[in-house]
Amino acid sequence: MSSVHLKQLRMAFPDGTVGLHGLSLDIADGEFLTFLGPSGSGKTTTLRMIAGLEHPSAGEIWFGTRRVDLLSPADRNVAMVFQNYALYPHMTVRRNLEYPLRKRGVPRGDRASRIAEVTALLKIDGLLDRRPRQLSGGQQQRVALGRAMVRPSEVFLLDEPLSNLDAELRAHMRAELIQLHRSLGRTMIYVTHDQMEAMTMSTRIAVLSQGRLQQLATPHEVYHAPANKFVATFVGSPAMNMLVGRLELAGDVLRFVSEHLTVALPDCRRAELHGAPAQVAAGIRPEDLRLTPGEGDGRVTVVERAGHEAVVWLTLGRQRLVARAAAGTPAEAGTAVAVSVDGGRLHLFAEEGGQRLIGACPA
Ligand code: ADP
Ligand code: MG
Repeated sequence: MSSVHLKQLRMAFPDGTVGLHGLSLDIADGEFLTFLGPSGSGKTTTLRMIAGLEHPSAGEIWFGTRRVDLLSPADRNVAMVFQNYALYPHMTVRRNLEYPLRKRGVPRGDRASRIAEVTALLKIDGLLDRRPRQLSGGQQQRVALGRAMVRPSEVFLLDEPLSNLDAELRAHMRAELIQLHRSLGRTMIYVTHDQMEAMTMSTRIAVLSQGRLQQLATPHEVYHAPANKFVATFVGSPAMNMLVGRLELAGDVLRFVSEHLTVALPDCRRAELHGAPAQVAAGIRPEDLRLTPGEGDGRVTVVERAGHEAVVWLTLGRQRLVARAAAGTPAEAGTAVAVSVDGGRLHLFAEEGGQRLIGACPA
């Protein structure tokens, strides 16, 4: 087991594309760290560099006190699970699992006991004589995990391992991966574009966009104190509402003022806002938007009733907004609605550059 340290990692491909612009971060021993970002943000490139399948154009990779970026993949002692599983189709599950052990000359008896251990843990001990095509997607996924787990490795790398599974199985495997991480205690580095996976499994999330680190923080911090507008709107579903406006001092009260919505900010936020730019973007999570149906400037466009809650889409002037409401909300498409928000719940960002201006008030 090992900590992992990325130092100014850069990847420029031969065609000139820069996949990663100087990424630095430290992953603690035993952590479950997730790289989260949209397609093309540099997640796979980063993981492949850690595995040794791609050579960085600049920068260093360390496992604990050992520099590894000049070593071959085999000398790094990492295990990797790919999105497409990459199982050998002509081999049984047993042979697939044995392969990494045979390659390293592990004696037969040790191979058998190691396979028994891993297959029991992953609940695939009944599938040993089948071939990959005789398995469901979820079973193939488990075998791929098993093959990565059979030999001890310092670091466990997973690139979108659940993306080929259906929604129910994905949710199930998320829970299993959490348990697996807990029982193995190994450093896991996980890549996904799925915020739900990142939020539920990770000890910390590294949010990437266009080859640059946007935020490195716990799931709670990423959600409740996003570092910039990109993180704020990428994490959360439905996405955070974003309103452009300005900050004004009215007597003693600092206010956020936009075309149709004015929000008084609580005192605790004033000191921090000293020197903030006048033009700001205010982010409001759908669950923080309060609706009063039947009155006001808002117009409900669509109500999605999902059983346990309703998602209400509306317009306020030219601004489109989305709110989470109670399942029984009387809001109906085409009706008027008043919109308000507690000033302590507002996320404020510089309109220019998008950096977060202040944190939330202490609870
Ligand atoms: P992600 O896994 O986040 O979807 P990738 O790491 O695969 O993103 O890619 C990051 C960027 O690098 C993208 O713009 C992608 O097109 C580019 N890229 C990846 N591999 C290559 C390559 N072999 N040659 C040129 N560009 C590449
Ligand atoms: Mg990828």
